[in-house]
Amino acid sequence: MAEDPSPEPVSAQAETGGRAHLFNDRTTERYRRSVADGVGLVAATVARTAAPFTGVSPARLAPDIAAVDLERPLGDSAAALAELERVYLRDAVYFHHPRYLAHLNCPVVIPALLGEAVLSAVNSSLDTWDQSAGGTLIERRLIEWTAGRLGLGDAADGVFTSGGTQSNLHAMLLARDEACKAVEKEAATAPGGPPPKAEILPRLRILASECGHFSVAKAAAILGLGYEAVIPVPCDDRRRMRPAALARELDRCRREGLAVMAVVATAGTTDFGSIDPLPRIADLCARAGTWLHVDAAYGCGLLVSRRRHLLDGIERADSVTVDYHKSFFQPVSSSAVLVRDRTTLSHATYHADYLNPARSAEQRIPNQVDKSIQTTRRFDALKLWLTLRVMGADAVGELFDAVVDRAAEAWELLAADPRFTVVTRPQLSTLVFRYVPPPARAVSPALVDRANLHAREALAASGEAMVAGTVVDGAHHLKFTLLNPETSLHDIACVLDLLAGHAERYLAEHAPAEARLPAPRAS
Ligand SMILES: *Cc1c(COP(=O)(O)O)cnc(C)c1O
Repeated sequence: MAEDPSPEPVSAQAETGGRAHLFNDRTTERYRRSVADGVGLVAATVARTAAPFTGVSPARLAPDIAAVDLERPLGDSAAALAELERVYLRDAVYFHHPRYLAHLNCPVVIPALLGEAVLSAVNSSLDTWDQSAGGTLIERRLIEWTAGRLGLGDAADGVFTSGGTQSNLHAMLLARDEACKAVEKEAATAPGGPPPKAEILPRLRILASECGHFSVAKAAAILGLGYEAVIPVPCDDRRRMRPAALARELDRCRREGLAVMAVVATAGTTDFGSIDPLPRIADLCARAGTWLHVDAAYGCGLLVSRRRHLLDGIERADSVTVDYHKSFFQPVSSSAVLVRDRTTLSHATYHADYLNPARSAEQRIPNQVDKSIQTTRRFDALKLWLTLRVMGADAVGELFDAVVDRAAEAWELLAADPRFTVVTRPQLSTLVFRYVPPPARAVSPALVDRANLHAREALAASGEAMVAGTVVDGAHHLKFTLLNPETSLHDIACVLDLLAGHAERYLAEHAPAEARLPAPRAS
């Protein structure tokens, strides 16, 4: 955008009503001030944020938000920002804080925030060339770059999506339609011709590790296959898919006349960060002629890390999910789905007369809508573009390597701490563990479960730190997701002390009462 050194014409300043707020050549000064005010407020808030959360409860916050009269605008952004500080910023959950250890949310890099500001102001829509021009080419370059890092080969392509959930849905859509095509082709010469789609769909199955992401099951439901179409494949004790179990399921499906439309391997499970053995899974898929999808929503950061070898085998995938908003330190949303064979993307192509007529395709005018399940779509790729142009891929990889290193150190800490048991040594940056009372204290497993639940809730309510929780083998566990290189081992040790303190106090309060109760029931 050109510099605008001259003061705005008085007419624009004086303009009232909605027009004064439209962003255009006459309102650039208002835009500049307004955005700078917002940036200033966020910067000041972050500068003085001493904890990841205030511990506010929905009951305390809801009346403040309900009391805002949406029929009475405040008129200027300063007043609206002051109100926003009260109803949102003051009590928001801050992922940049080193004691935010809960979900797969990363602190974000500044070049990406710059990208976010630019992309929303220009407001390109990445469906067609005539709504984005260079934006389309920039997104394509980044898809090419990512496909290159994955090693998918010259025929690869893909598209940015809103997140891993959408990427997985998109990949399953392509796999489903490829499977239907294969069944139809095979039966083309059969008497009566190929079976109708309605007969093929109920026979389709997806094999995914029991530790895979739930969005795969959701995708199966959305695609008309039902949740039951996803068959969970057992994992080993480090929570990686067992290839022998996968081989058995592939065999069983074949014997039962079921068509496995896709095997979903996970490169970085959400709970354990475990990476399925990709080369062996790829062998089995090749032998069975099955689509291999690799969900690398979390593990994609390895593409730029010194641990790239952990993804070996991913180059054999038919489709891959990457979430830059998890391990590339990008703001939400920034994600992509990639495919080895670009022609498969045509399963999501529809020619609309008003938008992308077949004529444009013939004229080779580039567009991304032919590859996407969205129409109007944000230019999220710009954030990654500026990140690579300002910092470079190696700097992003260093950040991810730092959190993986930290998780390894934290595992040592946990493994040596008698107050906790830890499920598995991490490959990436999560730790799943559980508070356990000293053996001398006879406490029921149900109460230990409740003490772990309580520890997490009490910690969040205190606002001092935030951790996640999950259930492993029926027992409540605590979970650290480390995505912040600023989190030190000291932070982790402090949070462990806080958790143990909450759990111990809970047991001290409840264990005597439990002793007087009849036999405890598992909750
Ligand atoms: C987070 C995650 C997803 C879902 O991604 P969103 O961006 O949250 O939609 C899918 N798969 C795995 C392994 C994940 O960790």
